[in-house]
Amino acid sequence: MSQLRRQSLVAYGEPLCETIADCPTPRGSEVLVRVECCGVCHSDLHLQDGYFALGGDKRLDITKDRALPFTLGHEISGVIEATGEAADGALLGRRVAVYPWIGCGTCAVCRAGDENMCSAHRHLGIAVDGGYASHVLVPHPRYLLDYAPLAASFAAPLMCSGLTAYAALKRLVSRADRGPVLLVGLGGVGMMGLALARALFPDPPIVADIDAEKRKAALAAGAAQAFDPSDPQARRAVLTATGGVMAACDFVGSDKSLQFTTGVLARGGKVVVTGLLGGNFSIAAAMIPIKAMTIEGTLTGSLAEAHELLDLARSAAITPIPTRKRPFQQAQAALDDLRAGRVVGRTVLSA
Ligand SMILES: [Zn+2]
Ligand SMILES: [Zn+2]
Repeated sequence: MSQLRRQSLVAYGEPLCETIADCPTPRGSEVLVRVECCGVCHSDLHLQDGYFALGGDKRLDITKDRALPFTLGHEISGVIEATGEAADGALLGRRVAVYPWIGCGTCAVCRAGDENMCSAHRHLGIAVDGGYASHVLVPHPRYLLDYAPLAASFAAPLMCSGLTAYAALKRLVSRADRGPVLLVGLGGVGMMGLALARALFPDPPIVADIDAEKRKAALAAGAAQAFDPSDPQARRAVLTATGGVMAACDFVGSDKSLQFTTGVLARGGKVVVTGLLGGNFSIAAAMIPIKAMTIEGTLTGSLAEAHELLDLARSAAITPIPTRKRPFQQAQAALDDLRAGRVVGRTVLSA
């Protein structure tokens, strides 16, 4: 029996460490995927901490959601190595991206196709062991998507940062012909959003980030203009440049980023929030009707949207975001670099 090597979360707030177990044998419809690439996502930091910061001293404890040791990692691509007796054996050897946002499959939310929002979910790398490992067990082949001719290291992050950005931008399509879309926060998801926005929308987007290097990278990747939201003049500058923004995406999700983003909206404007940085956001309640403002949250995307995204990535020559490959043994170092803000684009752990 082959070995399952994992970079495991053994205690919250502690560094990952390697654990070795027997490789699981797929049963029924299950499929065993040998992991080629696994993206390192900002939400992995929250999972390692065991909580989300809600603002002030408030924390959302998420330590009850999984048993330790646990394997993080939800941006997975790999090769089908074994199948259960009810799964098609012809799948063996296929190279696939793994849709990780797997629901219970039976509730009303799942039956409507929104497994990513299931309250009894089995999300890989969140509730069920994920991809910081040599292998990952997937409950059904329907969650495996062909990604050729894309690169494995590009397909993997599409399943979280790409899908999150895509699902958010889709909710702005009806407003995107009324001026450039504003993208706030240029981490992995924001940079992916920039690449997708260029393919989806008529005008190149404008961007905002407090980090000069990230603004530079965004301009090089085709952003029309870049703003520094920590500059007190930035709000005025965006309003002058655009006359007010109709469609914005907040990839940060903090009190400051939402203050900035809602502050530059035009009347009838909409902001979609995907970021989970935390904090408390307050707004003068009357501004919501006065500005006819929409604030909508999204959480990753559906399986159907994952297929749409791969089709888009194949057809529209999406420029892959800057990607750094590191060996799996450097998972903790990659998380440390991400936490310290030292990562431009995406880090992908690679076998
Ligand atoms: Zn993620
Ligand atoms: Zn469900």
